[in-house]
Amino acid sequence: MKVTVLSGGVGGARFLRGLSTVVDPDNISIVGNVADDIEILGLHVSPDLDSILYGLTGLADDERGWGRADESWNALATVDALGGESWFRLGDRDLGLHLVRTQLLRDGASLSEATARIAAALGLRSRLFPATDDPVRTFVETPAGTLPFQTWFVARAHRDEVDAVHYAGAPAARPAPGVVEAIAAADVIVITPSNPYVSIGPILAVDGIRAALEARRVACVAVSPLIGGRAVKGPADRMLARIAGGTTPAHVAACYEGLIDALVLDETDGPCELGAGVRPVLTQTLMSDADARRRLAQAVLDAAGAAV
Ligand code: GDP
Ligand code: CA
Repeated sequence: MKVTVLSGGVGGARFLRGLSTVVDPDNISIVGNVADDIEILGLHVSPDLDSILYGLTGLADDERGWGRADESWNALATVDALGGESWFRLGDRDLGLHLVRTQLLRDGASLSEATARIAAALGLRSRLFPATDDPVRTFVETPAGTLPFQTWFVARAHRDEVDAVHYAGAPAARPAPGVVEAIAAADVIVITPSNPYVSIGPILAVDGIRAALEARRVACVAVSPLIGGRAVKGPADRMLARIAGGTTPAHVAACYEGLIDALVLDETDGPCELGAGVRPVLTQTLMSDADARRRLAQAVLDAAGAAV
């Protein structure tokens, strides 16, 4: 069975780790968000792609919840001491990857080529595609003005309320090579429990990707990032409340209108009606350990089987 997964960073990587235990990783294709990407200290950083890479190759720091295990911060301490831009947290081990990616891009590689090279070197068995090789960047509109995604998310610790989100560059962006083919060849399509606005939204804002999903002939199953109406981590609940007007399963499903056949939700959010042909599937969705991750992934595959 071939599974194609649309994924953000940390929440997406957590789900993908579980999926890799119930589906042969060779048969998993991942379409990752790149609208969080940032040029900082002269380096091209792709936080969501890297969360996936680290999560699936055993390099992630499970306790901190992001970045690499056994990390140190000497380079950033030097940047700080020199008055450089030190607000974006880059560890020493992490920086090594950004150095290599940046050089590949400078030498003319596309982001998908650079990602494939790095993924192969790390031993990733699944295929990891950036959603697009074109520059797409998320901006949030807040009472303090329009802010670039990482300024809001990291520098301002996503304290500002968000009234709207836009994806600069998305109208002209084409799906990266292989993305549309991976969606068309899938037996099951999954949207991870990532932030609908800032992780999955920018992927769906690429017309060719949205069209490929709309044309699907297999089930597409999304997993809600909310448990009991609250985000497990991050601003997804506050964004839904303010932008969509609520945090019920129907509000989550509405983010994926016309694109999904089932929404997997936590038991604490049911029972519910979703309408528009979307079946709610209730299960425990907190991925607290390997067993919980595996059970959620299996529930998603079961939901896909029942939706066709
Ligand atoms: P980011 O790109 O690194 O910010 O991460 P994602 O967008 O991929 O994932 C963030 C979302 O994952 C948040 O909205 C969390 O609520 C959600 N999330 C994290 N862990 C879990 C979990 O164990 N279960 C569920 N259902 N959602 C989770
Ligand atoms: Ca992200």
